[in-house]
Amino acid sequence: MDTSNLPIRQYAADILAAVEKNDVVVVIGETGSGKTTQLSQILLEAGYGDHGMIGVTQPRRVGAVTVARRVAEERKVELGGEVGYAVRFENRTCSSTKIKYLTDGTLLQECLEDTHLSKYQVVILDEAHERSLNTDILFGVIKKLLASQDGARQHRLKLLVTSATLDDEKFSAYFNDCPVFNVPGRCFPVDVIHSQDDHMQDYAAAAVDTALQIHMQQPPGDILIFLTGQAEIDKAVQRLNSEVCKLPADSAGELLVLPLYAALPPELQLRVFRPAQPGVRRCIVATNVAETSITVEGVVYVIDSGVMKLKSYNAASGMDSLEVTAISRVQAAQRAGRAGRTRPGKCFRLYTRRYFERQMPDTTPPEICRTSLAGAVLGLKALGLPGLDVLSFDFLDPPEQASLCEALRQLYVLDALDVDGGITPTGRAMAALPLEPALARALLEAHKLGCLEEVITVAAMLSAEHVFAAGQGPESRAAANALTNPAPPGSSAAAQAEAGRKLKQLAEECQGDHLLLLRLYQMWAAAGFTRDFVQAHGLELRGMNFARDIRKQLAAVANFGSSHLQQQRPVSASSSQGQQQQQQQQEGGSKRRRWDEDKGPPLPSPTAGSSLGGSLLRSEGSAGSRGLGLDGRPLSRNGRAVSSPETLEKVRRALTVGFANRIARRMRLHNGYRTCNQKGALAQVHPGSSQLSSDDDGLLPEWLIYHEFVATSRPFLRQVCPTRYQWVEPLLPKLQEVDVQRLSGGKLRAQAAAAAAAAAAAAAADAAAVAEAGQA
Ligand code: ADP
Ligand code: MG
Repeated sequence: MDTSNLPIRQYAADILAAVEKNDVVVVIGETGSGKTTQLSQILLEAGYGDHGMIGVTQPRRVGAVTVARRVAEERKVELGGEVGYAVRFENRTCSSTKIKYLTDGTLLQECLEDTHLSKYQVVILDEAHERSLNTDILFGVIKKLLASQDGARQHRLKLLVTSATLDDEKFSAYFNDCPVFNVPGRCFPVDVIHSQDDHMQDYAAAAVDTALQIHMQQPPGDILIFLTGQAEIDKAVQRLNSEVCKLPADSAGELLVLPLYAALPPELQLRVFRPAQPGVRRCIVATNVAETSITVEGVVYVIDSGVMKLKSYNAASGMDSLEVTAISRVQAAQRAGRAGRTRPGKCFRLYTRRYFERQMPDTTPPEICRTSLAGAVLGLKALGLPGLDVLSFDFLDPPEQASLCEALRQLYVLDALDVDGGITPTGRAMAALPLEPALARALLEAHKLGCLEEVITVAAMLSAEHVFAAGQGPESRAAANALTNPAPPGSSAAAQAEAGRKLKQLAEECQGDHLLLLRLYQMWAAAGFTRDFVQAHGLELRGMNFARDIRKQLAAVANFGSSHLQQQRPVSASSSQGQQQQQQQQEGGSKRRRWDEDKGPPLPSPTAGSSLGGSLLRSEGSAGSRGLGLDGRPLSRNGRAVSSPETLEKVRRALTVGFANRIARRMRLHNGYRTCNQKGALAQVHPGSSQLSSDDDGLLPEWLIYHEFVATSRPFLRQVCPTRYQWVEPLLPKLQEVDVQRLSGGKLRAQAAAAAAAAAAAAAADAAAVAEAGQA
């Protein structure tokens, strides 16, 4: 692996000199120039890392893990030693780690424990062009930290911000005109060919056809297709494979078709780094991960659909939508650039030149402007930076005020903020948990009610996301169709149908999706975590194993291993002790697996212990010292095999408290629901959600909580759980009487006044200009 000729290596000395002189340096370089893998090593080789780690953030979990593995390989060291990584629910670092790749979310979480980031000598905020929510928050947090670091730390913290696109002026201005390095990439000219007709509707089919044409007509060189998501990509891969087989034997060579998306298992992702056999053309079908975060070598032809999947959130309705959306011109340029990495290339755009020039948006709004901010605002409040006020926080691109206010309101409803917007002990405990606010709140409530184990399992299953096999799960129609269209016995389709049947039956026995997830996990645990069980029930082993890991981590943080409560040191116990123990557990592979089976989870890390553990201990009274759950049942290691109906009631009650912002009430006479948040939007239960039992009139439960409010074709509530009025009632006053004005600390009024004054001044200036023009 020769990395010495990567473009960034040639600028190493200049970059180091700039870092020496400045607290902040921005490095801009073509994708593939070596920013992610080389900068950390360049710094390490120059002696950084001796007074704290070099931390490199990545917006995505797989990014952090794959890059750390790659850098460890390049340095010929074992992963988890000199080079390690930390992502939510997994930490592979040790006391001698010098280069640490971590997700931006994990670094934010670390800020809570260590406001000065004293464990780091350098922080690299990588892939800044992606403008992920957490990276945007880190910009502001670290900027503030740097401004106050004189005397606060022994060694100055250095910040590097790296980006693949030229947003240099904006970044530099934000960081007080810091120096910017432009690392020229090795770019060859790319011929851009626009389509004559617009293929925005049938882009996936058009992409496949274009790829086949290239394969038959164009000289050797790999093809990279940009599509929007997993299902679509898998389908395109299938089609390509079957169409290629139909081509006459002598018309084209071999084509190796590879999918590439974030949810793909890492070992399959790594296949794209392996060059093809001679004479074989590769065709990579990817989401926008291949735009900037993963570099695929050997690509000569790019096919750009012009679209991507984009998640956006409407603060007014609280609705999330994940929709196929037009990419921006910046992205189109990035995509085209992927073709010219090794030699001159071609980019086929499945949209017209006219569309590109006149209709395509310039840039994509950053995530902070299109996502729920409840978690981010809670994090900021928990950081307690002096003088921090969320509404006037120094954001690179400030989100809409309505969105910030909605976050404040939601946090108030969850008891995380008091009426004046100050963080409460409950809020602190929530912030310490690596979960979204709703699930964190549910966990705290579960502890109070004595069903912590169960709710931890639910949270783990929801966090794992891909627990159902493709085409299975209540979400999928296959499960619903299994009964009506039986497949021939013995076929894999028959096995799938059988799994679908089992799932459906289970879903009918459980009340809603949350309890179904709980039941599935419990059954799997009772079956000894076998693969057979997973297959027979239409689950996905990887997803389930992930849920199991998350469950362990949550159990450790939530500190519910009862004997621990007994042994736990005072809350102020030395910070490094807990961590070291945790690290030791995590370093030895086989040891690591065993802890929860044998000894229970390790001691919680200090902050988790002090905030959450503290509050748990308080509310717990003496229950912990008996080594029992609150309801007097012994706590099990892997989650209980079966929960009593009473416990399941408690689970639903705890979830109701956590999801207080996501309660919906059925209409009186039909099965439509109205959400109980301020706007009261109308929606239906998603047909893919678990079947809910209905009464004699065919009416569904009156009260529900939902995990997601989504717009696909119509507004739907997804992942629902029936709840009761008696649990909802105590929450209603808070839901109805929120004084956002007061929550914002009066800032809202002050800002509105300032904005009005500015507008008036501008109008006056305009009037003066007009008058002046008139006089002239
Ligand atoms: P940048 O961050 O500037 O986009 P990277 O540091 O990610 O660049 O990549 C530098 C080079 O290393 C690229 O040529 C890329 O293809 C290669 N590379 C990165 N990760 C891997 C990996 N896991 N396996 C093989 N090659 C890799
Ligand atoms: Mg990179």
